[in-house]
Amino acid sequence: MAHTEAVTSTYSPEQLHQYVVTTCQAMGSETLEATLVADQLVGANLAGHDSHGVGMLPTYVEAVRGGRLKVNHHATVARDSGSVLLIEGNWAFGQVAGYEATNLAIERARETGVALMGLRNSFHIGRIGHWGEQCIRAGMVSINFVNVAGHEPLVAPYGGSEPRFGTNPVCIGIPGRDGQPAALLDMATSVIAMGKARVAKLKGEPVPEGTLLDGEGRVTRDPNGMFRHPREGALIAFGEHKGSGLAIMCELLGAALVGGLTLAPKWERDGSAINSMLSIVIDPDSLTSRDGLAAEADAFLDYLRSSALREGFEELLVPGEPEQRAREARAAAVPVDDGTLRELRVAGSKAGLSEETVAGLLGG
Ligand code: NAD
Repeated sequence: MAHTEAVTSTYSPEQLHQYVVTTCQAMGSETLEATLVADQLVGANLAGHDSHGVGMLPTYVEAVRGGRLKVNHHATVARDSGSVLLIEGNWAFGQVAGYEATNLAIERARETGVALMGLRNSFHIGRIGHWGEQCIRAGMVSINFVNVAGHEPLVAPYGGSEPRFGTNPVCIGIPGRDGQPAALLDMATSVIAMGKARVAKLKGEPVPEGTLLDGEGRVTRDPNGMFRHPREGALIAFGEHKGSGLAIMCELLGAALVGGLTLAPKWERDGSAINSMLSIVIDPDSLTSRDGLAAEADAFLDYLRSSALREGFEELLVPGEPEQRAREARAAAVPVDDGTLRELRVAGSKAGLSEETVAGLLGG
């Protein structure tokens, strides 16, 4: 593949936030909606996950223009029985539906000790760790299984060369002290998220070894086939049969169980990014106690960190620590590669912003 040096500019988080808010408002979003979208996208960049950062905005603009993503729609309760909640996403911005559904689950877990929440038919809910963090701030444990439908499958099952499911993320958040995570595991079940292949393509860089198959089922480092029409190749599920198995369970728990869209071919694939999610939100006070959990987590994680390092490793991190470090490193300046920047400018003007407004917000 052609390898070009990636050009990267930096922006303050506030500048990027303002660009997302202004673009959403140009499409008609109310202030809270625009703010929730910007909070999550910029939050993902700050956490080091550019794949789910402001680079998603062009996809959202196209989806609004195509009528697949509904501005100013909200989550509604479809079923409510005891500790079980089924929430309809109504094709709303996932940042709105995810926020509202997670809030409802937190409130229910406060009352009943645990809430089982199914969210279906929401547009892209982005970085799932964002919802894990919302629970953590409320002192809640959460376990989240998510599928991705509405578009062609991306990931090959173990032993297969053709894609059959999405990057189906799993997120487990454990609260520590002061609203901070003790640990936050948030991962795609593919070795790399599709957005990371998109970022590599935009930067003209190869993807890491062992992450992609080409159209013939051979391992490749060239991300371009994934963006051809029709698509050539597939992402590889992490952890061989075990990761592939977990991805399959995300499809069955995250979507089939909640009545959401799976990637069974009977469902329309119009290029949308539709997420369904099964969340188990647990109030630690219903089992041990918040303080008890935080104290035991500290004790265990201190022991974990005391392990001698394996050959070739310079440090041992707890899930969630890489994101915390990225936040510290990026607090004042978030890198945005040139390809993403170009797409952001186009998205702004498609949303209705004038050239002057785009230039005023993004420079150049
Ligand atoms: P990743 O591989 O960068 O990290 C996965 C997890 O491993 C994180 O919890 C991280 O803290 C932890 N981790 C990373 N390096 C570590 C280390 N050296 N030691 C210990 N722990 C470490 O993440 P990913 O799998 O590329 O996923 C990226 C994002 O994509 C996630 O936020 C996920 O929610 C999101 N995603 C969303 C969708 C969707 O449809 N909405 C689909 C797929 C992925």
